[in-house]
Amino acid sequence: MLPTKGRRTVGAWCFVDVIGPADAQEPDPLEVGPHPHIGLSTATWLLEGEALHTDSLGTEQVIRPGQLNLMTAGRGIGHAELAARPPFRGVQLWIAQPEGTRHGANAFEHHASLPQLDLEDDGSATILVGSFVGARSAARTDTALVGVDLSVPRGRTTLPLDTSFEHALVLLDGRLQVGGEVVEPGWLALLPAGRSELPVSADGDARYLLLGGEPLGERIAMWWNFVARDQDELTDAYRAWQDRDTDRFAPVPSQLPRIDAPRPPWLPDEG
Ligand code: MN
Repeated sequence: MLPTKGRRTVGAWCFVDVIGPADAQEPDPLEVGPHPHIGLSTATWLLEGEALHTDSLGTEQVIRPGQLNLMTAGRGIGHAELAARPPFRGVQLWIAQPEGTRHGANAFEHHASLPQLDLEDDGSATILVGSFVGARSAARTDTALVGVDLSVPRGRTTLPLDTSFEHALVLLDGRLQVGGEVVEPGWLALLPAGRSELPVSADGDARYLLLGGEPLGERIAMWWNFVARDQDELTDAYRAWQDRDTDRFAPVPSQLPRIDAPRPPWLPDEG
């Protein structure tokens, strides 16, 4: 759902993909062999099932619904993911790193439990990153950011917002009325900075993510699994992965086959 035409980032959130549930076309929606990332943090959030994460730091971590995996690539990391227990359904989120940390060390955090809040109207909220209504997640943030999973019954909720943040709503289940608009799964509702609250109405049980942050203030270049600032940086990362440069991308412990990078379309043909 992100990036979309005309919108690259919401705060530092630069990629949002709801994965699964499995169907006949895609029986295992999460079986991704070793592949690299640069310049971003991946946040993995499961709705159903279990997944196994391995990475070039030597991490081997099972993740379950309600838990957060946050992997920060810095200059370069490799990882693999496997759905360990179907049915699998989850959200993959990427967060662009700012100039201050994007050339730095890689890191991995697993948060086995996260702060939860009961809302006035019998809804509940889990704080993935940042803070919401006074509760703060311990997850790393490199820029001012918020990510909350909200479950609400039928009715009206007013979400408090940080006025310096731009925000997006990502519907996971049900539907919401936001202003005069209906927001359903598959749609991203975008809200510019400057709002201190947002009234939303659900016409039945609904579950959604509130994502927000300070506008990144930097133009990013995204290609394949890389977040950089220009094509030269993307080309360097492409070559390092294809050349198995272990100074940049250490080996990933995984039984799955390694994923080759496609050739960047801006490079001249080989030969
Ligand atoms: Mn990945």
